Amino acid sequence: MSRYWSDLARQLTPYVPGEQPQGTRLVKLNTNENPYGPSPAVLDAIASISPDELKRYPDPDSSALREAFADREGLGSDQVFLGNGSDEVLAHTFQALLKHDKPLLFPEISYSFYPVWSELYQIAYERVPLRGDFTIDVDAYSMANSGILIPNPNAPTGVLLAKADIARLLETHPDSVVVIDEAYIDFGGESATALISDHDNLLVVQTFSKSRSLAGMRVGVAFGPAELIEGLVRVKDSFNSYPMDIVAQRATLASLQDEAWFQNCCQKVIATRERTSHELSLLGFEVLPSSANFVFARHPGRDAAEIFAELRQRGVIVRYFDKPLISQYLRISIGTDAEMDELLSVLEDVL
Ligand code: PMP
Repeated sequence: MSRYWSDLARQLTPYVPGEQPQGTRLVKLNTNENPYGPSPAVLDAIASISPDELKRYPDPDSSALREAFADREGLGSDQVFLGNGSDEVLAHTFQALLKHDKPLLFPEISYSFYPVWSELYQIAYERVPLRGDFTIDVDAYSMANSGILIPNPNAPTGVLLAKADIARLLETHPDSVVVIDEAYIDFGGESATALISDHDNLLVVQTFSKSRSLAGMRVGVAFGPAELIEGLVRVKDSFNSYPMDIVAQRATLASLQDEAWFQNCCQKVIATRERTSHELSLLGFEVLPSSANFVFARHPGRDAAEIFAELRQRGVIVRYFDKPLISQYLRISIGTDAEMDELLSVLEDVL
């Protein structure tokens, strides 16, 4: 604690991201990256950027990219906001669209950054319990609130909320901003972006870190009514979010243009997830039904922290959360088939 820190910095509990071991040979299944890498067209687009382009500031409106997103979604480009990763887009959302008079509601089990941002932007929050089977009960979001934030599929459970439930939430809370964090939507869910045209209170946030294999680049996007997007534009940095840097703009555009590569990677991840869930259940794990690129599982006969530590020792790194309600679960990202085989064979030894 430094005497130079502001009162706010003194109060904050910083977010601790999943471990990112560098340069070691590990089966890395802890932060839900895509094992297949981006389309080769993305690498070509990056390589084709000229020194002249790099020495100048980027297009301040990221026009080409916002138009490409708008076309994909059937929206106007004033309904698209870009940022350096969806974490940054969400941070802007907290700053621009949540008020201080009533709490923000989010699921009791959800992305651990939400309470961190709430503290940073001094927004009160309430965690809303899930049902016993980890599904989200939209009727439980009944208390007065300034906004509702739901990851869909939920993280770290992987459980999907139906689009009809999201529509109901929007209709029953017309005065709240409803933010759907779709970081994992491409692995089997249906995006809520189609609901934007009928609801002026919906913001949908997506990332290129998972299904698009660009976690190293930091690309996030929000879709919503122009009025909400304008709120985000008001709090953005000059040349940081919207526009993203020129490399990210070009890479993202190239990724969007290679739909076949994207679909193929997602299908491979989904097939491997289904096989892994099955194999884990044969090893005695209870595995939640996942619509994401990870599975959330517990073994009734073994302590999750112990399994985590033993896997780590044998070179397989998964995610363990030492938190109430989920401390007996492991979150396992879906890697290649070979990586999952390695996990399963190490688990056979460990159990
Ligand atoms: N939302 C959820 C639910 C996540 O799990 C993550 C990844 N940790 C993010 C947002 C942020 O992803 P990024 O900043 O890489 O876009």
